[in-house]
Amino acid sequence: MSPDHNQLALRLVKQIENAGSISVAEYMRAANQEYYARSDPFGVDGDFITAPEISQMFGEMLGLCLTDMWLRQVKPPNCHYVELGPGRGSLADDILRSMARFGFLPSRHFVETSQALIEKQAQLLGVGNWHETIETLPENGPLFVIANEFFDALPIRQMISTHAGWRERVIIRDQGTKFRAVPGSQSMDAIIPDILRNAPVQTIYETSSEGSAIVFALAKRIKEQGGVFLIIDYGYSELGFGDTLQAVQDHQYTDPFSNPGAVDLSAHVNFHEIVSLCLAQGLRVSGPVGQGEWLSALGINQRAAALTKAYPDRSDEIQSACQRLVAAEQMGMLFKVLAISSKDWVEPEGFSGNI
Ligand code: SAH
Repeated sequence: MSPDHNQLALRLVKQIENAGSISVAEYMRAANQEYYARSDPFGVDGDFITAPEISQMFGEMLGLCLTDMWLRQVKPPNCHYVELGPGRGSLADDILRSMARFGFLPSRHFVETSQALIEKQAQLLGVGNWHETIETLPENGPLFVIANEFFDALPIRQMISTHAGWRERVIIRDQGTKFRAVPGSQSMDAIIPDILRNAPVQTIYETSSEGSAIVFALAKRIKEQGGVFLIIDYGYSELGFGDTLQAVQDHQYTDPFSNPGAVDLSAHVNFHEIVSLCLAQGLRVSGPVGQGEWLSALGINQRAAALTKAYPDRSDEIQSACQRLVAAEQMGMLFKVLAISSKDWVEPEGFSGNI
């Protein structure tokens, strides 16, 4: 789609003309809604590849982790599998299949906003319940919740430090259907953590109110209902700052402020904030640890060896997929795994220490 024919860009231009500017979050929300509504961006032919599209082993390890908790908890009844933003549905397919082998057959719930992806997921997964938000998820029985590369797609707000204090970064029109981010006029000093108060000019601090609201609500549910919430994403574990908004198209980084809706927008996930929110609610937090370390602890290398034995002609493919998921210079370090569980429940495996 050429920028000149980009209907969303034209709509945003109008919105900016009326309001003077829009927030980075409004821009990102509109762009990603459009992006996920109109396409299947995953895989070699798409814009980016996620872990479940690399290998079934990823979902199998997640399934193993959930099954292990269910078994050690002595098979509680009325369990629910919940996935946030299931993409093509491949991850749920792998996880549910691996859990079924152990007789773990929870009800299935998928939280998804893209109609195009709901259809794709329904085709692959068959039975299940689709939800637009987490609010309609079952209120009784343990929840086994997975979010892989979900939080990075949620809108972020950006605050920027200027000579006049902290401001929200807002989007204005650059030229044609190109946009630009500039500091807004209202003071944002009140919402900046103390530690960043004297940060150098141009420092950027990101927050995601949608992400925090989802974490907060699910943490509360898990505390009451039992279960676990596994979050896998790329992000930072310490209180961080910097501009992490990025755009990807056709496996290449591109400008986030041109051609909205045609490129994937994402931002690093603030694990530090997620951890603080959950600890404040009295939940057990395990991790974050690197995806490579976690998958290795769960036994991905043994699984790769077993698959190689069963399919010797696919040995290279299996080994290279395993490396891609685990190796530090590939997904192993950048991607992190975090688990949130009730203190009354057994601890999830694969994390050497809990907070
Ligand atoms: N988990 C998948 C796909 C990740 S892409 C995988 O690992 O392959 C992000 C997914 O989240 C897409 O399915 C997208 O449509 C969905 N999504 C984005 N924003 C959402 C929101 N606010 N509510 C529910 N789903 C959302």
